Amino acid sequence: MSRIRLVTDVPGPNSRAMTARRDAAGARGASRLTEVAVARAHGAVVEDVDGNHLLDFAGGIGVLAVGHTPENVVGAVKRQADDLLHLCAIVGTYEPYVAVLEALVDVAPGDFPKKAVLLNSGAEAVETAVKIARAHTGRQAIVVFEGGYHGRTNLTLGMTSKYGLFKKGFGPFPAEIYRLPFPNVYRRPAGMTEEAFVDEAIRQLDHAMVAQVDPSAIAAFVIEPVQGEGGFLPVPKRFLERLRAIADTHGVVLVADEVQSGMGRTGSMWAVDHTGVVPDLITTAKSLAAGMPLAAVVGRAEIMDAPHPGGLGGTYSGNPLACAAALEAISTLRTPAFQARAREVGERMRVGLERIRQEQALVGDVRGLGPMLAIEFVKDPASKEPFPDLVLEITRQALKRGLIVIRAGLYSNCIRLLPPLDLTDDEIDEGMGVLAEAVTAAVGTLVPEFGGDRASAATDAARSAATGAAASDAAGTTTSAAASAATSDAADAHPTKEATVRA
Ligand code: PMP
Repeated sequence: MSRIRLVTDVPGPNSRAMTARRDAAGARGASRLTEVAVARAHGAVVEDVDGNHLLDFAGGIGVLAVGHTPENVVGAVKRQADDLLHLCAIVGTYEPYVAVLEALVDVAPGDFPKKAVLLNSGAEAVETAVKIARAHTGRQAIVVFEGGYHGRTNLTLGMTSKYGLFKKGFGPFPAEIYRLPFPNVYRRPAGMTEEAFVDEAIRQLDHAMVAQVDPSAIAAFVIEPVQGEGGFLPVPKRFLERLRAIADTHGVVLVADEVQSGMGRTGSMWAVDHTGVVPDLITTAKSLAAGMPLAAVVGRAEIMDAPHPGGLGGTYSGNPLACAAALEAISTLRTPAFQARAREVGERMRVGLERIRQEQALVGDVRGLGPMLAIEFVKDPASKEPFPDLVLEITRQALKRGLIVIRAGLYSNCIRLLPPLDLTDDEIDEGMGVLAEAVTAAVGTLVPEFGGDRASAATDAARSAATGAAASDAAGTTTSAAASAATSDAADAHPTKEATVRA
């Protein structure tokens, strides 16, 4: 049975009205990717303020690994709200705070004593990891990588790549940040094998330790094991191993920024689990607390204990409600059954993406780790020239049909899939079907010479025929196909400022 049920165009009138109020009262810098306004959500389905049911493959930008409003999390938050909303962990101690620290120490990789610190956001966790590494090493330099995203505070913006979207106008940024090339295997020189490309990336890394910064000056390497905003690029295992080796030789702290890739998102607890490399510190946030604001740094006890008492934390860090949510989320995420299902979800979504690749000439790459998957679009698979306008149009076409997807990539030319990982096979298939339709429709709109138009019309007609009964059922609802057929493509064929946001 279809999970997507559309009763109006998407965005509908109530969504548009609420969004207009947001735009009038809210600073435009804190922008939005869609015009959808949501009333409630459960599992992988969100209900907007017009009563439309949409499939959510953005998952709060990778926050909702355990799904929207899971019963155990909601129950725990409600119970906690009755007992204690806030104390401040600087003032005293409460059970959920301690239990989350213990759980993090337990699930973090590494066969050595560990400790953790709780924070509010991914950026704050990354910034705290840098503070810890500097305090531990007595050094200043931080090495980061092109395409990396680490947050929007001044230090983490300085560490973040992609200038135009995130950093423009916000400088100056802190000193002692060194940005090195990231081995993007897809964009390797034509004719070079993957093996040779990783060899070359390692050679460049070694060269940078002479040409850019001496390892004895480096406090930390900070790297996403799978670049998130950068377009879901897994770090080649050998490259991460080389970083580990340099870190070991020179006493550098290896920080895995797993804010997006961690806590079950790749079908294992951490993305680094796929590589066998054990970082000294891990940053985590997003999936950690099922939507409640909580972040953490966890890692080697002797490094974690380097900052002086009072040097870390903050007023809200480790809020009781967020900790209650995290305890439930972690208890779900750490089970082998959840992780096995997450991997199945990934395999099924990958089949859907590969099908799109077979059908569409403008797909450059399909990649990712487990269910953390992206599809990259290019104007020409040979030149690999990015096609961000097409991706923007795909997200719009998908939304009109009831599927929320968002973009990623240094060139904003990837669609990334971050659905709740508890979704059913039917939900996956429905979502991937809608995505395929959206791609066809977008290609038809922007590059009709590729034949997307005809294919789109045929697909829509087929879906309408198959679901014709539901399209006019007693409740007056329409199916996604019927609604999309009724929506004018021409009205929103052009990119708008909604294109230029990312969390
Ligand atoms: N690091 C990574 C890898 C991220 O993906 C993000 C958020 N997209 C951040 C840090 C920043 O997290 P937050 O938005 O919670 O500050």
